[in-house]
Amino acid sequence: MKTLIIAELSAGKELRNSTLAAISFAATAAQLAGGSYDILVLGSEPQQAAETLAKFGAHEVLVSADPSFEHPLAEVFAPTVSEVGKEYQLLVATASSFGKDLMPRVAARLDAAYAGDCAAVTSASDQLVYKRPMFAGNAFGDCTLSTPIQVATVRQSEVEAAKETDSQSPIRQVAKSPDSPAAQRVEFVALDAVKSERPELTDARVIVSGGRALKDKFFDVLEPLADQLGAALGASRAAVDAGYCPGDFQVGQTGKIVAPELYFAVGISGAIQHIAGMKGSKVIVAINKDPDAPIFQLSDYGLVADLFDAVPELVSALKAG
Ligand SMILES: Cc1cc2nc3c(=O)[nH]c(=O)nc-3n(C[C@H](O)[C@H](O)[C@H](O)COP(=O)(O)OP(=O)(O)OC[C@H]3O[C@@H](n4cnc5c(N)ncnc54)[C@H](O)[C@@H]3O)c2cc1C
Repeated sequence: MKTLIIAELSAGKELRNSTLAAISFAATAAQLAGGSYDILVLGSEPQQAAETLAKFGAHEVLVSADPSFEHPLAEVFAPTVSEVGKEYQLLVATASSFGKDLMPRVAARLDAAYAGDCAAVTSASDQLVYKRPMFAGNAFGDCTLSTPIQVATVRQSEVEAAKETDSQSPIRQVAKSPDSPAAQRVEFVALDAVKSERPELTDARVIVSGGRALKDKFFDVLEPLADQLGAALGASRAAVDAGYCPGDFQVGQTGKIVAPELYFAVGISGAIQHIAGMKGSKVIVAINKDPDAPIFQLSDYGLVADLFDAVPELVSALKAG
């Protein structure tokens, strides 16, 4: 079986860590089914990313460089990914916004069945079995796909990132495929990204998340704690909807799925939709003034306290210690 991983770059050149989850998933699939994996890198200046990816055990790293690949527009990427991908039996990307946007389109072009947001891959009766979350991650189901080409995206928080090896894969250039009518109809207008010195939420080792209780003191209270811990800031949907912080802070079913080593839930009740996005965290600390808040059922450490007292005290203790 031949597997193709679609790498994710930012600004068309820098490799995103999210790609490493797809590599590790594809390596497992290739091992189970017996075969190798290649990595496809599309970008405006993808060479350096390709050189980095050459250290991850791939049979080959395929590179397609074109100015139109600077921004991740699924309509623009899909023709090349599906043209290259038709030589493979399995195509894999991480279930980031990029992967979730691109891969269903690629699957449709290849008449391939699609397993989205997979948490693991195993095998049974000579078939790959994809483990997928259902009901906002409260249950998992196993599925098999029956088409000659299969397409899967991988939930980053459930899969250990691939590590560099001593290998050095050959790098081969591939041509960009002609634009489809859909590609001709889309245009990149602007990226309105929040600039931050903090780690990316989905890559962070520590996350400090705040809920509705923070009100307009969201940043005043949480930033000093995040600074002490070198953490990314996250939030519940209630905090986002109330305008206390930007939308890309949202963790949960309809936000980002995270699995840091340490997750602080500050003034967050622990609604099922929030938990769906962070329950894979290794250690969970909850601060809430309601001892019956559902978040305490999940947390490793719980503090029943008013957050406006507890968080500044914690910051002082961290500074002192
Ligand atoms: C389809 C759908 C999708 C959704 N997706 C998401 C999602 O992706 N992410 C998400 O988070 N939510 C999501 N929600 C919303 C979710 O159901 C909850 O409404 C939301 O998570 C609640 O946010 P919260 O915990 O901040 O607010 P609340 O539920 O209002 O909880 C606030 C908490 O703060 C505590 N508190 C108040 N004052 C203090 C204080 N001074 N000190 C300490 N504690 C205090 C309270 O005891 C309470 O537990 C979704 C809902 C739906 C229907």
